[in-house]
This record gives sequence, structure tokens and C-alpha cells, in this order.
Amino acid sequence: MNYIVFDLEWNQSSSSATENDLLPFEIIEIGAVKLDAKFNIIDEYGSIVRPQIYPRLQKRIWEMLHYDEAFLKTGRHFDVVCKEFLDWCGEDFMFCSWGPLDLYYLQQNMDFYVMNPLPSPLHFYNLQDIFADIYPDLGACKLEKAVERLSIPIDQPFHSAINDARYTGLIMKHLKIKNLDDKYCVDYYNNPKTLDDEIVSRHKNYREHISREFDSKNEAMEDKVLLTLHCPKCNRRINKKIKWFSNNSTSYLCVGKCWYHGYILGKIKFKHTYDDRVFMIKKTQLISKAEMENIKQKQDQIRQKRKEKNKRHKSNNQ
Ligand SMILES: [Zn+2]
Repeated sequence: MNYIVFDLEWNQSSSSATENDLLPFEIIEIGAVKLDAKFNIIDEYGSIVRPQIYPRLQKRIWEMLHYDEAFLKTGRHFDVVCKEFLDWCGEDFMFCSWGPLDLYYLQQNMDFYVMNPLPSPLHFYNLQDIFADIYPDLGACKLEKAVERLSIPIDQPFHSAINDARYTGLIMKHLKIKNLDDKYCVDYYNNPKTLDDEIVSRHKNYREHISREFDSKNEAMEDKVLLTLHCPKCNRRINKKIKWFSNNSTSYLCVGKCWYHGYILGKIKFKHTYDDRVFMIKKTQLISKAEMENIKQKQDQIRQKRKEKNKRHKSNNQ
């Protein structure tokens, strides 16, 4: 199997409003390197795409890139370039990228031009996350920072798709990643639509469940089955010690205990679909007793704040 490490450059509307909701980000360049099983670069792909929706480069993007609008006119239509790129990828490969966005926007652009969708569920390696696990002091950092940290020679400018793909490929080789098989992510672009499509992926240290769509967060949070917790180690259904509570506007937390493996943190995040429905991503992972106690404290603080707010609200209304 080969690894296709790819990078995209995209443009967007020059005005503050998005001109086309179906294509907020238009791809203008695809760059990729193909790595063999030992992470050696064995081939390269690079092409410029002639934009159809946003022919003017947004100022911030124009400043970052090393080419202008006249050069983009020399590119070819997206569906021609994308088909060529996918043919170049071959049959047996895994996508790898710096962050999850490239794969998301690739599919959004493919949808826009009514191309055949990529297989689903789609697994890929997010090298930004894998790097952050190995170098937690840098976290989910920019590509430049990771290249510097690994002392990879910088001989080409960043923010060209082919150069960034090359650098990302070199990072993959330098990282000497252990248990790479376990570190895949599931792409969220083609999210599950029905109960039968729901995706559960089990990893060494966590378990991820991607739900079907709902009209609202509240509707999803009423689904008792979806709110159950499973131990990521043994997959047993476990009892909750701290019930689900709203941590902030985008996530919910909960803690359970597996008789065999200890405390388990559950975390729910919601993602919006383009037609404003939602789906849930529920992750469970092992935590220590101290971490469990921190979460308990957090819940108490949130409850306390809410009480005070309600009190203020009541006294203001009197
Ligand atoms: Zn267990």
C-alpha cells in the first residue's frame, strides 16, 4: 500500500459574504507525493486549477501564495485535474494530510462538480494530530513549525501545494510513527445518514462513534442509546458516574467506570451539515482518578455559575 500525502490551496470570496454556499472554498492547486511502505517519496503530482467561482484571489490568500490571478488562468478545470489526481493515486493507498480540512474541501469541490464520491467511510492519517501526540508542547501546530522542529532543510517556500505536500511527506518519514495502523481518522464529510450507517471505530486508546443526522442537538441528546458509554478497551457497556453535562456551547462531557479498566471519559461534539442538520461525534477514552475529579469540579463550577445567573435573572425581573 502507498501513502498519498496531499495538500491543497484554496480561494474564497473576496467579499465578506460567501457567494456560493455550496462552494465556500474553491480549490486552486493540488499537490501530492506518493510514499512507499517505508515512507520514501516515489512519485509527485502537482497541478493548478483554473477557478470558476472566485477568479479574484482574496487579499489574505494572494499575500500568502506565490502566484497571481493571471497564473491561475493557465490552470485546467477542477474536474479534469481532480480525475487526473485520483488516477495518479492508484488503487491501494491511504490519504494523509496536515489537518482534516484538505480531504473535506476536496470532497466538497468534487460534489460541486457532481463527480463520483470517494468511498465511505473514508479513513485517512491526520499528520498534524499524529505530530501533536509525539510533540505535545507544540500541539496542533502549523506545518512550518513541525518542519523546523524536525530540522528538515527548508529549501522551498511554504504555501504551494506541492511544496507543502513534500514537507508533510518528509515529516511522515522523520516521525518514525509506531502503530500507524491504529492512528487513522474517519473523515466526517460523508457523515452517516441512517442508524445502519453509523460508524464506530475502535482504537488502542479511544473509541469513536459517529451518529446519524438529527434536526437539532436537543433531539440527538434525547437518544438514550446514543448516550450510552462503552469502554474503549473491552467494549463493555458501562455505568455513568457523572451524567452528561454541557461543557460549553459545542461539547458535552460524562464519566463512567469500567470494572476492569477504570474511569472512562465520554465527550460529545456536534458538527453541522450544509443543510443545517447536526450529527454527533462521541469519543470515549481512559482517564485517571485525578482527571475524573477535575471533571467533577468543572461540573460543579458550571452548576454554580448557572445558579448565580438564574438568581440574577430572577432579581432583575422582580
Ligand atoms: Zn473495559
